[in-house]
Amino acid sequence: MSRNEIIVSTEEMERQQTFAEMVRALPHRPKSYHVVTYGCQMNAHDSEKIAGMLESMGMASAPQREEADFVIFNTCCVRENAERRALGNVTWLKEVRKQKPELLIAVCGCMIQEPGMADRILKQYKFIDLAFGTANLHKLPEMMYELLNGGNRVVRVEEKDVIPEGLPVRRLRHDAAYVTIMYGCDNFCSYCIVPYVRGRERSRDPEEIIREAEGLLESGVKEIMLLGQNVNSYGKGLPGDVSFAKLLKRLDDTGIPRIRFMTSHPKDLCDELIDVMASGKHILPQFHLPVQSGNDEILRLMNRHYTRGQYLDRVRKLREAIPGIGLSTDIIVGFPGETEAQFEDTMSLVDEVRYDSAFTFIYSARTGTRAAEMPGRIPEEEATERIKRLIDLQESLQQDTMKRFVGTEEEILVEGLSRRSEQAVSGKGKHGISISVAGSEKDIGTILKCRVTGLKNNTLMGVREA
Ligand code: SF4
Repeated sequence: MSRNEIIVSTEEMERQQTFAEMVRALPHRPKSYHVVTYGCQMNAHDSEKIAGMLESMGMASAPQREEADFVIFNTCCVRENAERRALGNVTWLKEVRKQKPELLIAVCGCMIQEPGMADRILKQYKFIDLAFGTANLHKLPEMMYELLNGGNRVVRVEEKDVIPEGLPVRRLRHDAAYVTIMYGCDNFCSYCIVPYVRGRERSRDPEEIIREAEGLLESGVKEIMLLGQNVNSYGKGLPGDVSFAKLLKRLDDTGIPRIRFMTSHPKDLCDELIDVMASGKHILPQFHLPVQSGNDEILRLMNRHYTRGQYLDRVRKLREAIPGIGLSTDIIVGFPGETEAQFEDTMSLVDEVRYDSAFTFIYSARTGTRAAEMPGRIPEEEATERIKRLIDLQESLQQDTMKRFVGTEEEILVEGLSRRSEQAVSGKGKHGISISVAGSEKDIGTILKCRVTGLKNNTLMGVREA
């Protein structure tokens, strides 16, 4: 356990529940809320916890931010444009308040943990009523009470690396749920701000995770997505023989029909995990394995701790053990100093691996990271031209890789009506790829067996099987 790490005590959580009841009793408290979420699944799950806490304070969800008495922005600072977008939207709400003076505005999440941001909010964004960092999330009831009872704006940023347990959660879906297994990251990839704003790695107690999963299964959840910045290093610092592979095996034994996880770091992807996946009954055959670059020198500058060869070896091992596995990745284009030849190495790696999907990004400098100080910034037009070439390549290959599913049997967890037709539904198959089949609203949340019959505009089409 790191020096700064604390597990939030049961007493503290009870104290927060008391504050929630006190807020509920205030006659002038907001009656409705709206959460605006930016960024990754970790943030999406934090927003579910924020919603759960606000409902415990007696507020109801408003579908549109303009309709809510309390609007909270859960921000991301991984890329500069996400940050700019969040601040732009917060400022826009200032105008809404001219018509609705009782409107309360809050900002939370990674952006607030950035050095200097709390001061900036205090001085430059005076219309923000409440701002707090990721380590303060579980204290939302207390902060709301202070805001509503004292009438002064509240800004809190703690440096502690907390593990909050037992927060109320308002899940977005009833059939699928996020389960955070660890927080923070120790990897310090040179371009990434996450370790600075989310703190050092800390893992939840495996017993708490199993208990949560069993509770979800009992409540009818069919799929869980295990979350962490680097799930492969789960367990570091915990007593006993704990690892991600062992946790996954125990979760597989609970009988939850579908288990997914993200994100993984290639350097920590061990054979034990691959073996557990291969022998598991409910662990879905899909893997998100961010490569970031196909060039060894760029990988070194990124502080990724693997080479192109080692990455390709992991892909080979995964495919040998789990034939047909769905593979996805993240790639950064235009890292400082990236030459045309080094970018071509990324193109050739994508050509070699044949991913089912790739999330591609232009490098975004983040103050405080090592890469932000590196020379050789790639001009925007050049980076844009490279990313277009990469996207074109990925799209052309994707058509081909997806064809391997045509004629196979799949199972989808129906997420909703298809965007193309009201007589069809869609959901992700076991390999993480969306499949569309004939159906109606009553199928939402069920697992359907189907046979893939074709491919239309990068979507797999299927027919239902008994
Ligand atoms: S592994 Fe690297 S990219 Fe991922 S969160 Fe940690 S530092 Fe950031």
